[in-house]
Amino acid sequence: MKVTYIGHATLLIEIGTVRLLTDPNFDRKLGGFLPRVSPPGLAIDQLPRLDALLLTHAHADHLSFDSLDILPRDIPLYAPPVIAKWLRRRGYQHAEDLAPGGSVRIGRVDVHAALATHRGNRYGFDRWRGDANMYLLDDGEETCFFAGDTALTPDTHHLVHGTLGPGRRQLDVALLPIGYAPWWKRTGFRRGHLTHDDALTLFERLGGRVFVPYHWGTFHHITARAHDAINRLIERLEAHHLRAAVRILEPGETLELTREATRVGDHPKRRAADRAFGGVAATNIDPHGGTESRPSQ
Ligand SMILES: [Zn+2]
Ligand SMILES: [Zn+2]
Repeated sequence: MKVTYIGHATLLIEIGTVRLLTDPNFDRKLGGFLPRVSPPGLAIDQLPRLDALLLTHAHADHLSFDSLDILPRDIPLYAPPVIAKWLRRRGYQHAEDLAPGGSVRIGRVDVHAALATHRGNRYGFDRWRGDANMYLLDDGEETCFFAGDTALTPDTHHLVHGTLGPGRRQLDVALLPIGYAPWWKRTGFRRGHLTHDDALTLFERLGGRVFVPYHWGTFHHITARAHDAINRLIERLEAHHLRAAVRILEPGETLELTREATRVGDHPKRRAADRAFGGVAATNIDPHGGTESRPSQ
């Protein structure tokens, strides 16, 4: 499996030959005025051929119409049903329903959906489009959980445990958002988002092998700078028991996981996650390398 952090909640996930892009946002500004502080790790025309787009909710940082307008339309765009219906009405005929509790198969990958704890409407008046999904990807061997935006609740980990538990399988990759809010805003923030500490708690409950944080380093927000959350996570990890399982990818970096015992050297500081996988490497992606990296249409 390969996971490339493009920025914010946009990740390219490659499982076997299946390539999925999450919450695509390549905008230069968020909402037209909040500046992007780092360019997308891959430009849209550097993306490989995709098999589907996965959309979690309608917030502008996750749903960019400008990005959807440039991305291919001959592949399905899965979203919560109310969002998919709204998108189809706006002319995005490739939008397809993926309801919480449901799943869809893309190539060999099953995508399971569950309801996230997050009100995803764009404004105040449009609660009808507030649904938010999270997704678990599973090709029978490798698994990846993408949380979209969510709060930490007693059942946030149920999608993963309910799906993988019967087979006693361990989650491979947990992609979890991290955010920061000043103290006066934090209680409300945590009703719909994860702080860096919440994300670590959720990762522990998920029992995953590797945690890749996203939702940082891309846009400044009104009450948080783009690196507030990641700086706090890095600080926390200095003395945290899960430190070895956390992989921080800068935009453009790729995490590559292989199950086969690959030679990655026997450096004593090799992380626990490496051992779990036989080999884990984070590399800068070369968009021009390989025969499969070609502009999508
Ligand atoms: Zn959101
Ligand atoms: Zn968000």
